[in-house]
Amino acid sequence: MERSDWNYLILVNRENPLRRFPDADMLEPVLEEYPDVLMEHRAARALRALLEAIGNRGEIIPVSGFRTQAEQQKIWDDTLLERGEEFTRKFVAYPGCSEHQTGLAIDLGANLPEIDFICPEFPDTGIFGKFREKAADFGFIERYPKGKEAVTGIGAEPWHFRYVGVPHAAVMKAGGLVLEEYAEERNAFGGGVK
Ligand SMILES: [Zn+2]
Repeated sequence: MERSDWNYLILVNRENPLRRFPDADMLEPVLEEYPDVLMEHRAARALRALLEAIGNRGEIIPVSGFRTQAEQQKIWDDTLLERGEEFTRKFVAYPGCSEHQTGLAIDLGANLPEIDFICPEFPDTGIFGKFREKAADFGFIERYPKGKEAVTGIGAEPWHFRYVGVPHAAVMKAGGLVLEEYAEERNAFGGGVK
């Protein structure tokens, strides 16, 4: 049975750790060729529709979707060991504070022979540019844009997309707002993003 009581606008960052984690029955593979990359049902459906709309034929692949607390902890520990503290703090969210734990975030990459799991290649041109152009129409935002590092607390990640739903994505895009700013604005007007 599909549950749709998830909060698609949920704000997750270092100051706002996730308090409720999605159950397994709220998740599904984004694409059947990648059975291990999961998202929440509605987010997964929207991503498939978006990839289809831009005519993706496997050029764009899902690299990392939903992560459990244990998986996020392992990514944090491994990255710390392999790439050091500065890199880890810049590109890996602290365990419990990662959007990937909501089932609403996805890292996408170009289908290359070697893929960097933490920082996959996601250019601006061609089908990747098309994806960026159309993302908001399907409820997705580029979550950690360049220039907003001080607000998000995360380095620019052109490969990390977050489902917030329609019309929120379009409103954020038009206003140049990241989720932290949008949440603050909505709270100020009683919109209630928590
Ligand atoms: Zn990510």
